[in-house]
Amino acid sequence: MAKIRLFTPGPTPVPEQVMLEMAQPMDHHRTSQYQEILGKVLEGLKYVFQTKNDVLVFTSSGTGSMEGAIVCTAQPGKKTLIVQGGKFGERWGEVCAAFDIPHTIMNVEWGKGADVGLIEKALKDDPTIGAVVVVHCETSTAAASNIEAIAKVVSQTPAVLIVDAISSAAAMPIKVDEWGIDIVCTGSQKALMLPPGLAFSVVSEKAWKIIEANKPKAYYFDYRAYRKAIKGVDTPYTSALTLVKGLNKSLEMIRAEGIENVWSRVSKLAGACRSAFEAMGIKLYATDPADSVTAFWVPEGIDEVAFRKTMRARYGVHLAAGQGKIKGKVVRINHMGYVDMVDTMGALAAIETVLLQMGYKFTPGAGLAAAQKVLCQ
Ligand SMILES: *Cc1c(COP(=O)(O)O)cnc(C)c1O
Repeated sequence: MAKIRLFTPGPTPVPEQVMLEMAQPMDHHRTSQYQEILGKVLEGLKYVFQTKNDVLVFTSSGTGSMEGAIVCTAQPGKKTLIVQGGKFGERWGEVCAAFDIPHTIMNVEWGKGADVGLIEKALKDDPTIGAVVVVHCETSTAAASNIEAIAKVVSQTPAVLIVDAISSAAAMPIKVDEWGIDIVCTGSQKALMLPPGLAFSVVSEKAWKIIEANKPKAYYFDYRAYRKAIKGVDTPYTSALTLVKGLNKSLEMIRAEGIENVWSRVSKLAGACRSAFEAMGIKLYATDPADSVTAFWVPEGIDEVAFRKTMRARYGVHLAAGQGKIKGKVVRINHMGYVDMVDTMGALAAIETVLLQMGYKFTPGAGLAAAQKVLCQ
């Protein structure tokens, strides 16, 4: 049987209702019908981010919105502080390097969240820091940072806070206005239950003042063009209207469930998996674990590649490999998006079965029982 069960932290499964929405005949993007859909989508995204700020929609993967955020906020005589504790933190530094934007890296031990005290100190010691970049859920290590506490610190300075929420928006709580985040970046293929192809940025007034004064050296990702267009509920270039229609449906689903309920579902599934692995004698990778995704050490004596290959070949369960220095040692399982209790229990059952077949010693059902305990709460 070739049933694919995606448990990768992006792309994630796309609901049938969303697929059907995207199967409609092709239409033109400059029509009142499309404008109505885009208007609903912009409102829905504001609900997801708990904000009144502008939401910009790009036709790109999440990285496009990252490039825009870096280039648009780079100010003459200032530098960007990148908090880096995994592959995606590294990517933010690579974007700065690609554009010769002065930046400093604050290294965080992999598996840990950002240190709020160190960010506060860095801002005090160096007034030339104009922007701070923090990855909310570092998907490569499955570690979370405390964005609320970091925003409290950064919002008291002239610097802007850029948050990579590509794998946390619509999965873990993010309250843009209440917390005071200046730019949030995300993409479509993680918790928003869509195929890859859309990226989003939420931009505060504080950030706009800097961006407008800066005259960014960007074209496609010049945020100003998108701000101008959304005033007329439009996009500056051809909209990926098929994906936007799908997004309209997935946002309806998120609204119907309620964003707080979405956050608690994801949190419960993550808690269930963490308990399951511990009960099976499997160690978790992150010491500050995120809820969007769980990373676990492959037990000793088990070949990581063979484990994931067997999971997919035999049961259709597609888990994600480790990245960078933890490649071959760590495996990741997703909790974002269109994933529920039955899906997660099924994946855990398959993990148990494959590990037993591969010779790993533990009490069969121990992980499932631990997960059920959490799910019953
Ligand atoms: C997926 C992801 C990205 C990159 O997004 P792409 O859509 O692959 O460009 C960036 N940051 C984090 C934290 C991610 O999970």
